[in-house]
Amino acid sequence: MIGLFSCKEVAQKPREIQEVQAPPPPATVLGAPEVRVAVVRDAQEVRIAATDGALVVKNGTGSVLAQIADRNEAVLRLSPSGLTLDGRSLGLLRSMRITKTAEAGRVSLDGVELGEKADLFIDPARNNTLSAVAYVGIEEYLVGVLAGEVPYDRWGAEALKAQAITSRTYALYQMKIHANEACDVESTVMSQVFKPGNRNNVVLNRAVNGTRGLVLTSGGRIFPAYFHSTCGGATARGTSVFADSPAVGTLNGVACPFCAQSPSYRWHAELTRDEIGRRLRAFPDLAGQTIGTIQGLDFLGGSAASPRAESVRVRHSGGVLTMSANRFRIAVGPGVLKSVLLERVTATPTGFAFDGRGFGHGVGLCQYGSNGMAEKGYTCEQILGFYYPGGELTKVYGERITASR
Ligand SMILES: [Zn+2]
Repeated sequence: MIGLFSCKEVAQKPREIQEVQAPPPPATVLGAPEVRVAVVRDAQEVRIAATDGALVVKNGTGSVLAQIADRNEAVLRLSPSGLTLDGRSLGLLRSMRITKTAEAGRVSLDGVELGEKADLFIDPARNNTLSAVAYVGIEEYLVGVLAGEVPYDRWGAEALKAQAITSRTYALYQMKIHANEACDVESTVMSQVFKPGNRNNVVLNRAVNGTRGLVLTSGGRIFPAYFHSTCGGATARGTSVFADSPAVGTLNGVACPFCAQSPSYRWHAELTRDEIGRRLRAFPDLAGQTIGTIQGLDFLGGSAASPRAESVRVRHSGGVLTMSANRFRIAVGPGVLKSVLLERVTATPTGFAFDGRGFGHGVGLCQYGSNGMAEKGYTCEQILGFYYPGGELTKVYGERITASR
């Protein structure tokens, strides 16, 4: 049983985050880079269309395999004997790159207009299904992230700018650590939700353009600027949730009095023993473990200062399974068990009832809190200074270059 949550602490007045002239970190880039976004996963076929000019399809050595004319569509399909493009076999080919030919050209996949280039491949890491990775300019990518992550038509402008800087930082960090992999980010909550097709939205562009090139740094270094929907009263320390989180002060967690308007500030959920057992057995991380009938759950590690459960002991008919509380949440359904900030866990005749606060892992920026601050008149810099204490704002690209006199 974890300690009950009490929210008596009143947050100090947020300190405004300062923009610093940091020495250029190794990750500094001069122009805005492209993010490699996994836009299609686990597919059997992908529709490829050309907009504003033809596309070329090339193999790994750069030889042209096919052309797709402007406004035409081709279907790449996975068959037992390999890939086909519009019914024509591509032999042993397992990957290809699609690029535009005209200045304004764009690659469209499954009816969604994306960037100027995309890789499509049979993915051995996903049961040999088809994956597609689009190369999207980071500023345009951020327009799609804001569209996917926040109700931008209702939220305050300063909260949208804070989200743009947070998401830019998160993306650049992912690009750094996934540089040798096939993609930088997923387009789902696994990374941050990317919803393309909003390129010309004025509100989204204002938030992204108004913060162009700005990222959060800690001691001059970029860090994974985690964020979540609703903290429920206190954000979590990064290292207590993610094994690979850097131990930086900016991710230490703060008391947050700004997210009470969230629909997930308080929630109640119930799960049966059977559902919990079934979901744990289906969770890939636990493959190979024998999990019997669920008998009891002990959430461990919460305290008054840090009220989130850190681990859970699952007692079942075959023994005891101990796992991180956040992994347990992901396994049983992160939309049901919305957080591990649990006020009460009680046994029901068929399973367990959970009373909790907040939605998400709890690390970094609290999105509903950020909007709550914006509605109270705080600026983007104050919002970021509050959720990432000690952080700095650094411009990593988009500087205006002037000739020396
Ligand atoms: Zn909050």
